[in-house]
Amino acid sequence: MKITVAHLYPDLLNLYGDTGNITALVYRMQKRGIEANVVNYGINDEVDFDNTDILFLGGGSDKEMRIVCSRMREYRDKLKAYVEDDGCVLAVCGGYQLLGTSYMIGDETVNALEVLSISSAYSPDRLIGDIILQSDLLGTKIVGFENHNGLMDIGDYAPLGKVICGHGNNGKSGYEGVIYKNTIGSYLHGPLLPKNPVLTDYIITKSIEKRYGLQTLTELDDNFENLAHDYIVNKYTGD
Ligand code: GLN
Repeated sequence: MKITVAHLYPDLLNLYGDTGNITALVYRMQKRGIEANVVNYGINDEVDFDNTDILFLGGGSDKEMRIVCSRMREYRDKLKAYVEDDGCVLAVCGGYQLLGTSYMIGDETVNALEVLSISSAYSPDRLIGDIILQSDLLGTKIVGFENHNGLMDIGDYAPLGKVICGHGNNGKSGYEGVIYKNTIGSYLHGPLLPKNPVLTDYIITKSIEKRYGLQTLTELDDNFENLAHDYIVNKYTGD
């Protein structure tokens, strides 16, 4: 069994260790004997959606986001079709904002990829810090670190989780992230997946289900991952 992870623009979108998400996906697949094929795409490369099982977009600063946005708008229809066809996407922070209809840099509105009907406004004060969510979908807490000016409005979409501590999508809604089909957008860096093995396995499971049919993943020893996860939960909630 082989799962291909498309890492879009690691040289441009890699804030706060986002590439660690790829490492976590690969590690948890290889431990189970699943062949993990990572394709790192450069800005001029053509993305092979037919042979992509998980597509990852990390966070980036304004300058890098502009470059990526303008390039991705050229093939936005293919990305939209991939998402509608249950392709797996994990998009973090800047990548999350790119999936929407628009995002803002100060007073300027930048047209984004319109893959999801979500949009991001701008806060002059950055929303920064450790963050903890309760995810009903995963039945567990998700931990991470956020640092964004963007204020995300996800409309009627389902959030990734309810904010227990931190700011989340916009500091007001009480929710963080978005889930649509097999596409997940989130402000959580940290990186997100190494500290949240349940979420990592959720994405792996969905990618396998789409390509090979539903299968149950073997259990792994998550002692170290859980120590990192539980440390943050305990620090802020005492649980
Ligand atoms: N520039 C965007 C913001 O601050 C995204 C930053 C990021 O990816 N951390 O909202």
